[in-house]
Amino acid sequence: MPTLRQLRSYERWVSDQPDTERALTVDLTPGRIVIWGKAPFRVISLSDLNPGNWPTEYEEAWDAASRPDVASWKDRPMRLGVQRDTDAADPERSGIVPAHGQWVILPEHYSVCRSCGELPPCPEAFTDRIMAVESHRIDFEMRLVHGTCHGCGKPVSRRERSILFPGDNLIRPDLGANTAVFHTRQSCLPIALSYQDRWLAAEPGRAERISW
Ligand SMILES: [Zn+2]
Ligand SMILES: [Zn+2]
Repeated sequence: MPTLRQLRSYERWVSDQPDTERALTVDLTPGRIVIWGKAPFRVISLSDLNPGNWPTEYEEAWDAASRPDVASWKDRPMRLGVQRDTDAADPERSGIVPAHGQWVILPEHYSVCRSCGELPPCPEAFTDRIMAVESHRIDFEMRLVHGTCHGCGKPVSRRERSILFPGDNLIRPDLGANTAVFHTRQSCLPIALSYQDRWLAAEPGRAERISW
């Protein structure tokens, strides 16, 4: 059974590769393969940044955190040097990332799509997957009525755990305000999380109602 942390909005890309591991930036060592922007990169180098060279947003975050000890501060910026793993001609590149940033580590023998060479689900497969969900969803959403879960379409009873997103209903505006409700059971949660992404973007200042 997946844990809450493994569940996600169905529109969010997550690697299909089994046997991945997770690591913090500080624990990355040269030779490990990380997923960065949906692509596999081999770690070349990792170093702390001189405090004089910190990007402004890190300076500000450090001030806001009451200037903790830099060497042990989990959000201190580090420079991570990588090279695209599937392309030996790719130039080494680097990025500035927080010391406790989370990475997905690929096993040494990971899969790529035979057709396009990208990590699964590759862009084409991922688009197909989302379109299949969405074409079902459109028919389904037209049949929703007041008081039914917008994830599964069944009525939400008082005894069931559920979550209501206040404000306009972004799926069915015609049902009125404060009607977007979802069960929090596992089968309804990915749809609720997808709705939450839209709901957060719809109005500035909203905070997550489901954290994961
Ligand atoms: Zn492909
Ligand atoms: Zn439901």
